[in-house]
This record gives sequence, C-alpha cells and structure tokens, in this order.
Amino acid sequence: MCEHYGWTRIASGELLRAAAAAGTPAGVEAKAFLDAGRLVPDVVIEQLVLERMAQPDCQTGVVLDGFPRTVAQATALDAALAQRRQGVDLALLLEVESAVLMERLAGRLTCRSCAATYHPRLLPPAQEGVCDRCGGSLYVRDDDQAEIVRARHAVYEQETEPLLAYYAHDARLQRESGHGAVDEVWERVRRVIDAAGRRGPAVNGLEKERSDESTRVGQTAL
Ligand code: AMP
Repeated sequence: MCEHYGWTRIASGELLRAAAAAGTPAGVEAKAFLDAGRLVPDVVIEQLVLERMAQPDCQTGVVLDGFPRTVAQATALDAALAQRRQGVDLALLLEVESAVLMERLAGRLTCRSCAATYHPRLLPPAQEGVCDRCGGSLYVRDDDQAEIVRARHAVYEQETEPLLAYYAHDARLQRESGHGAVDEVWERVRRVIDAAGRRGPAVNGLEKERSDESTRVGQTAL
C-alpha cells in the first residue's frame, strides 16, 4: 500500500518493540505490557507515534498500523493533527473471522530487519527462516504465542472495537473483508482507497487543495 501510494507506514507495535530493545524510558515502561499482550498506556504510544508523524518522510501521507487502539488515542490523534492542519481520511477495518485470525497470528514469522510477516503454513518464505524481501532472519514474536494471541484478541474486543463507532459516526470508517490471499485483499483495499480519494479529501498522495487548506495525511488500519 505504501509503495503504491508513496506513503510511509508507521506501526505502533514496531515503534514499541524497537524502544523496548533500545531500553529507552518509553520502551522500559512498555515492556511488561508488550509481553502480556496488554495495551501500553495511551500517553506513551501517543507521544511515540506523533513524534514519528512529525518527521519529513511523513508529510505526503502515512498509514498507521496498530494505532489508534482506544477511543482516547483516536481523540488525541484527531486533536494533534487538527493543530497541524492535517487529519485522518480513512479508517480501514479488515474483517477476518476469529478462528482464521488466530491461525494467522499464532506462530506467525516476522523479519527482524524489515518486519515483513510470513506463516509456516499459510504464507511460507521461499527459504526457511529467511525473509524473501530483504534476506533478514525470521522469528516468532513472543506475543504471537497462542496464549498471548488470545489475550490480545480479548483486549481488541474490549478496548479497540469501540473505535468502530468513533470512525463510523463521521463516515471515515470503511469495512472490507480480510479473507483470502494477500493479493486479493490488496486488490480490495486499493479499490476502497481509490474510491475514498475520488469522494473527498486527498488520499492517494494527490495533495488536492481543500477549501480549508488542510492537508489530509492519515489513514489508520484497525
Ligand atoms: P502489534 O505489533 O500492532 O501487534 O502490537 C504489539 C503490542 O504492542 C500490542 O499487543 C500492545 O502491547 C502494544 N501496542 C501496539 N500498538 C498499541 C497502541 N496503539 N496502544 C497500546 N498498545 C499498543
């Protein structure tokens, strides 16, 4: 998606794992939450993501992956972006049945270098343990063990699902099926984004002029 539209991907979980590995104050605070599959405190993640979004490579558009995950985070994001005369164009919900989700996540393989993901059965890499894209080594995240995946799913239902109403009330929410192969899902996602770009604010990195002159940069994947 980012390659196609020229946007930058910001994945909140990756920011947190990098901070934890580097032992920064935010990372130290986040570590226990990450290990348990619980959400880190809102202020911690809000600060990390908003700092990242202020960097030059984010000015033509970003895809937020894993953020916001609570209504408080979404409210803080809207407020911070409004101050920068920016905003969230589209909140994309990829719907997948719980059983399929569990299968995809439990045992998922992640590249240590570029964070690409694979699955031993559903999406195996060409060479075992090696990333197709960058040659990095693959590992199973601690929180992709089955027990923690179940805990994360429960957290999603309790704390993240209310976000659907938040983004639905002003029509920023789009729902799409996340079932099927990567290419099929991407095709559906592309259609949704292109349709949103035709309807209104500047997605597609087209930088259309808006009457209020604000730049719309955000997309969020729930
Ligand atoms: P992810 O890589 O998106 O699956 O996130 C992994 C973990 O990072 C989550 O289980 C949480 O512990 C933490 N995390 C990621 N994003 C957020 C967020 N927006 N708010 C709170 N915690 C988060």
